[in-house]
Amino acid sequence: MDLPGRVTPDERKQALEAIAAEVAVCTRCPLHIERIKAVPGEGHPETEVVFVGEGPGFNEDREGRPFVGAAGGLLNELLKAIGWRREEVFITNVVKCRPPGNRDPDPAEISACAPYLQRQLQVLDPSVVVTLGRHSLGTFMPGTRISAVHGTTGAVDPQTGAGNATTYAMYHPAAALRQGSLKETMVVDMAGLPEVLIAARERRAMLTTPEVAAFVTEQAPVPALANVPEVPVQLQPQPEPTVAPARVDNGAAIVELDSLETATVVATAPASSTEPQLELFG
Ligand code: URA
Ligand code: SF4
Repeated sequence: MDLPGRVTPDERKQALEAIAAEVAVCTRCPLHIERIKAVPGEGHPETEVVFVGEGPGFNEDREGRPFVGAAGGLLNELLKAIGWRREEVFITNVVKCRPPGNRDPDPAEISACAPYLQRQLQVLDPSVVVTLGRHSLGTFMPGTRISAVHGTTGAVDPQTGAGNATTYAMYHPAAALRQGSLKETMVVDMAGLPEVLIAARERRAMLTTPEVAAFVTEQAPVPALANVPEVPVQLQPQPEPTVAPARVDNGAAIVELDSLETATVVATAPASSTEPQLELFG
């Protein structure tokens, strides 16, 4: 049953494809001039976790897909260590076209491209945005330093499009490839992500659905975001996922959010497909 005002998986997929089609032919900033392919991003349309990197590199520009080079190999490895797969999350960048020579994107390019990221986040409505590197951090936690905030969470400015999300800051995998000591830091930070997702779900439930909020409050006090506890560090990689970032089979679960009974299910195994997003499709 599709409830009025709820986004179906098909609608979400179509909305993401429409954004990708616009990105593919975009000329809003000079980065379009030298690109081979634009790289809109990819992943599970029903995911709860979005990774935002900096911009496509050499390999990404050729393939039109994010994080397919060496940095992508490390990202895949880090995800695997917590039992997640890249197909279960969504991966994109602050700029969708390769800065020539892999230079940093400049502020004008980042702001020209921002509406695409904003719309992707509005459609995906994730519980967690993982920032990879300082350019992504600058979009989601402006004014912070990566060396100070990596491995910690913050609130997300609704202007970014991810108003119901918690941000989680990580170094960029390419930085860990350049500076080996950062790899262990990234392993540790990634190991904290499943706990961050659990806390983010609870916070989100409080923000979005009064019935779920009531239920969650009854079960266990939910900390305000400012009080989200320190993420326990799990040094051991977890071979079995204890928390999955997306329903890989998205056939059944978006039904019947109008009863408290089902709403409680959402608190433990939510799909991000349950809130109204009418303005996106109106
Ligand atoms: N680095 C990024 O920031 N993004 C990619 O897609 C690949 C490498
Ligand atoms: Fe358009 Fe973004 Fe590519 Fe610039 S980087 S041309 S704004 S898609």
